[in-house]
Amino acid sequence: MDGTIMSGATTAQDRPGTLPFDNSYARLPDAFFTAVDPTPVAAPRLIAFNRSLAEELGLDPERLERHAADWFSGNRLPPGALPLAMAYAGHQFGQFVPQLGDGRAILIGEVIDRDGQRRDIQLKGAGPTPYSRRGDGRAALGPVLREYILSEAMHALRIPSTRALAAVATGQPVYRERTLPGAVFTRVASSHIRVGTFQFFAARGDRENLRVLADHAIARHYPEAAGHERPYLALLDAVAARQAALIARWLGVGFIHGVMNTDNMTISGETIDFGPCAFMDRYDPRTVYSSIDHGGRYAYGNQPMIGQWNVARLAEALLPLIDPVEDKAVDLANASVARYMDLFQLRWKETIHAKTGLSEAGEDESDQQLIRDLLMLLLDGSADFTLAFRRLCDAAEDPAADAAFAELLQQPEAARPWLDAWRARLGRERATPAERAAAMRRVNPAFIARNHKVEEALRAAADHDDFSLFHALNDVLARPYDDAPGFSAYAEPPKPGEEITATFCGT
Ligand code: AMP
Ligand code: MG
Repeated sequence: MDGTIMSGATTAQDRPGTLPFDNSYARLPDAFFTAVDPTPVAAPRLIAFNRSLAEELGLDPERLERHAADWFSGNRLPPGALPLAMAYAGHQFGQFVPQLGDGRAILIGEVIDRDGQRRDIQLKGAGPTPYSRRGDGRAALGPVLREYILSEAMHALRIPSTRALAAVATGQPVYRERTLPGAVFTRVASSHIRVGTFQFFAARGDRENLRVLADHAIARHYPEAAGHERPYLALLDAVAARQAALIARWLGVGFIHGVMNTDNMTISGETIDFGPCAFMDRYDPRTVYSSIDHGGRYAYGNQPMIGQWNVARLAEALLPLIDPVEDKAVDLANASVARYMDLFQLRWKETIHAKTGLSEAGEDESDQQLIRDLLMLLLDGSADFTLAFRRLCDAAEDPAADAAFAELLQQPEAARPWLDAWRARLGRERATPAERAAAMRRVNPAFIARNHKVEEALRAAADHDDFSLFHALNDVLARPYDDAPGFSAYAEPPKPGEEITATFCGT
């Protein structure tokens, strides 16, 4: 193994007032990135700053906040920053693009957080880079706030995700279909290494750097793979397992990523790139929000299969490292790709069982049928996914709450046979109804980032410079599993006329 990550790094605790960078990616060979400075902006203004994340990173929030407008707009760089744009490739909607790269994102460095974990700090929308192609390197305020809300909402739902450290308005316009206010988003990730980063070197036949990247990814994310007799196969297995778990969790909260291109799939297993993503309101596996996803490739119910497709692209890229004999490498990689789907099934079963209150393993086939019937009931009844499961928690405690669940269906009476079958099955569980309901409330959120609430907050911010709805929404979404009396408007599905049917890329 290469020693691509140096040990003995200073931690944030050693130098609390600064950003104690330890930039391991910048120590990789030249082919991995291009050094590039952020382009200064006219009038940086701090819109949002995530103090609790700053603390998690072991940084001093007061000091950081004082510098935030400058540092997180890219107007000045914190001491020790080594700004760079990462090179990567990727399959976009199934088409391979050998050269993508950070066209508007600049990694300023890495810090070691409170738990000893290495975290990237990246400015998104900080100006053009050599990978910008025809883009301007900038981001509009709306999409920046959207990524802020959505990524923090995912984290609060206990789903692995990149995080939001800051949003800074630039005081400069960006030109899209219309002129919009510009902003820079500060993203924190356990790394920005993607499936597409591996594809970048594989497509060039650059086996040497492919190996350096794989060693770096192992050292950083899967150190246990290093001791495996086939470390690169172990890496593939580990990534596949994280992705299977991640996508099962997405489905559990009705999340639709929207652009599951291989350049938007991390090796760490964190959700990344909140462009046209959305939480589904009414349950329907065919749901698509992205205005650019015409074929429904990335529809809610396709995500597990697309996850496997992406893992297969990683497997292809890793083939030469897996075994020198190609046929042998292909067999091993195929088995790993197949294991992804088995693991997904397992993780999904855990997720949906917990959501439905089935903690004890029952007769497997009848439990599966019970869950299929529930989802069919929700689909046929056009029921709101989040609210249906949340009300099921109440019904698990007290049958008097059955009616509130049933009335979410277009034909409430259709719920009766299912509720009876479910209650009979719950009778075989050991937990008391109150315990069962409490456990269900810990996995069935009351609050998701509802599209109409997100849009309302973004409109107030971008059109009227009013950030009160943005902050209120973040506050509600920070505790998604707690009932919050007084905030019921945030728990409700959109009323007719409020529904958002399409979301747009951040570009
Ligand atoms: P995304 O759809 O955000 O995953 O981005 C796909 C590719 O387009 C990446 O290489 C981005 O860096 C690049 N890109 C997106 N928006 C811009 C922009 N405004 N300027 C330059 N490059 C961009
Ligand atoms: Mg991307």
